[in-house]
Amino acid sequence: LIVPSWHEFVELIRELYLKCKPISSGNVAEYIPQLARQDPNKWGVSICTVDGQRMSFGDATTPFCFQSVSKAFNYAILASDIGADAVHSFVGQEPSGRLFNEICLDVNNKPHNPMVNSGAIVVSSLLKKDWKMSDRFDYMLEEYKKLAGGEYIGFNNATFLSERDTADRNFALGHFMKECECFPNADQSIRDTLDFYFQLCSLETTCESLAVMAATLANGGVCPLTAEKCLANRPCRDVLSLMYSCGMYDYSGQFAFHVGLPAKSGVSGALIVVIPNLMGICLWSPPLDKMGNSVRGVEFCKKMITKFQFHNYDTL
Ligand code: GLU
Repeated sequence: LIVPSWHEFVELIRELYLKCKPISSGNVAEYIPQLARQDPNKWGVSICTVDGQRMSFGDATTPFCFQSVSKAFNYAILASDIGADAVHSFVGQEPSGRLFNEICLDVNNKPHNPMVNSGAIVVSSLLKKDWKMSDRFDYMLEEYKKLAGGEYIGFNNATFLSERDTADRNFALGHFMKECECFPNADQSIRDTLDFYFQLCSLETTCESLAVMAATLANGGVCPLTAEKCLANRPCRDVLSLMYSCGMYDYSGQFAFHVGLPAKSGVSGALIVVIPNLMGICLWSPPLDKMGNSVRGVEFCKKMITKFQFHNYDTL
């Protein structure tokens, strides 16, 4: 077993979960009603190891949307499909140092990286780009389910419709990128591309399922529950590099410094953390800090690092 003293480990994680429970700072995202209505008291923690040991605390079976956590998986799925080099002829690897939804490109007129909206929209445009919209959606749903070992992945249509209704900035970004020839097809439908991007943000999951997906990343793309190879090796390595440097909005540098683990957060309060070769962690709590990361989620990670030597450079 990868974690031999499992019960001891479970009790220590339970303590961390309980310590973070009373935290009451932060605000639930309010730009769409579906997020504004999320209960700020929700707090779930799930862990899945690379050999399939699992634990959950709190609201681990309540559904929530992936939002920006989808950016990590979309990138890894695309790179497994068309190859990392093909993907990176359209999008870079550099932290942008700008807000996640800013209308800006890098010096080559490409999105800075796949973890910001510009890069994620271009990634969406490349995913099975010659297929019908319906088949592209089904393809991604199936890929997500594979990563989650067949566990719950849903779609929140109300979130999708609201996202599309409040999408002026993303549309502006789409048109700006079209002008800069960022998309694979010159006649790219911005509407279709953004619909697909919003649909992927509106996929739904639970802490339990998302911990399995994170564990698949920790396990080199092989799902610990099914032993199915879901992602190629290099995309799996690459997405972890990108999560490490760009996964936590404008807190990414500080998170890499303090916690030292690849992670990706989303505006729903979801946060995945990957400990390579060991485990995937999903933390979910809707109140966000000023950077847009889950307050309880980030606090849990900081506390975890003081208890366990999980920081990338702890072994030195
Ligand atoms: N749907 C959101 C947007 O594109 C994603 C927000 C997020 O989780 O960062 O604005």
